[in-house]
Amino acid sequence: MSNPRLTHQWQHLDQRTVVGLQGAGLHSYLRDCVVPFSPHYGKLFKERGLTADDFHSVADLRKLPFTSKEDLLPTEDNPRRTLEFVLTPDAKALARRPSVMLRALLRGRKRVHDELEREWRPIFMTSTTGRSTEPVPFLYTQHDIRNLGLGSGRIVEIGGVRSDERMINMFPFAPHLAFWYMYYSGLDRNIFSLATGGGKVMGTEGNIRAVLKLKPQILVAMPTFLYHVLQLAVEQKLRFEGLRLLVLGGEKVPDGTRVKLADLCAQLGSPDVRIMATYGFTEAKLAWTECPIAPGTPPPGYHLYPDQGIVEIINPETGELVPDGEGGEIVWTPLDQRGTVVLRYRTGDRCEHGITWEPCPCCGRRMPRLVGNISRVSDVHALRFQKVKGTIVDFNELERALDDMPGLGAWQIELRKAHDDPLDLDELNLHVARTGDTSEAALEHALHEKLHAHFEITPNKVLFHSAAELRTLQKVGVALKEQKVVDHRDEPRRAEPAREAPRPSPQASYP
Ligand SMILES: [Zn+2]
Repeated sequence: MSNPRLTHQWQHLDQRTVVGLQGAGLHSYLRDCVVPFSPHYGKLFKERGLTADDFHSVADLRKLPFTSKEDLLPTEDNPRRTLEFVLTPDAKALARRPSVMLRALLRGRKRVHDELEREWRPIFMTSTTGRSTEPVPFLYTQHDIRNLGLGSGRIVEIGGVRSDERMINMFPFAPHLAFWYMYYSGLDRNIFSLATGGGKVMGTEGNIRAVLKLKPQILVAMPTFLYHVLQLAVEQKLRFEGLRLLVLGGEKVPDGTRVKLADLCAQLGSPDVRIMATYGFTEAKLAWTECPIAPGTPPPGYHLYPDQGIVEIINPETGELVPDGEGGEIVWTPLDQRGTVVLRYRTGDRCEHGITWEPCPCCGRRMPRLVGNISRVSDVHALRFQKVKGTIVDFNELERALDDMPGLGAWQIELRKAHDDPLDLDELNLHVARTGDTSEAALEHALHEKLHAHFEITPNKVLFHSAAELRTLQKVGVALKEQKVVDHRDEPRRAEPAREAPRPSPQASYP
């Protein structure tokens, strides 16, 4: 369970100390919380002949099998399968614990009863967005809400947000991690924060009005939505002066996107914005953040919170741990959660350079960091890559390439069937808006070159639009999340429901 030293000095301790404290924390967390009270893991430990005593170090984790997304999905026999991952304490067992008996003696039974209720009873949830599968709920108790504030407060801390500054949180209002994480960040650190609910709740115009009225220093948003808000404000010749920090999450944040967002901020009268990207996922019940950096600076990686959990990087094919600095799949084990708990959870997300323990080059904090691009891959393997004309295309890379492209503003990839015939070849059309003074011919040429060189595909059509038309195509202010990839291949048939876009699920979205 959480160790005060790890929680209060999480950014200052050296690797040996951190790993040592994590190992001790893992043992007591398994012993006191997970093994006795998790139906799923209680059974699994029993079946494998394991007890909490088999786990005294981080290295011991490898004795435990991975948990995957599939383990959480409802089955016909077991439609409420995720509840097996919810810690469900036995009141009598808790009451017999010496620590609880002592507390009852000192503070009175009623008070201890209330404290235990707050620690263990789920009162809140977020869920995965479930584009390709059923949404999976993750339950929180008050204990988890406190950790939500602790973790998200570190975004405020690392961002250097001052108490006289104001934040606007434009994440879409939904039972998804991203919105609530940022909601609690301001509350925890006593920072004024307005949650607009994003485009679907207040519209793009409503978000612009909120910025004009509140004059925030910090904007928190998904990069695509923020791009449209800033772009529209530039079109309307408005001034957003005093912006100094953009906190981004819920989607990839390629370098090109950072440059484009900062450029729009400069046009609005805020020339020196810093950008920090966050990474999280529903199953972790938290998100990590980079240091704020100037656009064009190499991202320093996500600062992990070692008191909250253990991040392992594995070879996705073999399941073996990889050495620090080597890329692989991100695996998560919490150290202090109640409610829904997953151990050694395989995210399906690949981190390019894995983990480093070197002090952060920006802030000097010492704690592990996740370094390099993280490719969010969907929970269903088949959705990771789409077959377009028989070519495997990694949409993570394709989207990043488009976001990085100079002269290209908003864009949308549209997949169709040639001649609207379900048996015909797939087509890939690019809907694009220009920025700056690149000509249409030059941009089209550059797009063809890039897609051919890096992905061996040639777009069937490149269609030019105004920024306003792209906002309509992406359903800005209408959909919960902007649609950058749409799949219209099933439309003519109408026999089965339209397939979801072949992009990583936005649960990813952390949400
Ligand atoms: Zn840093």
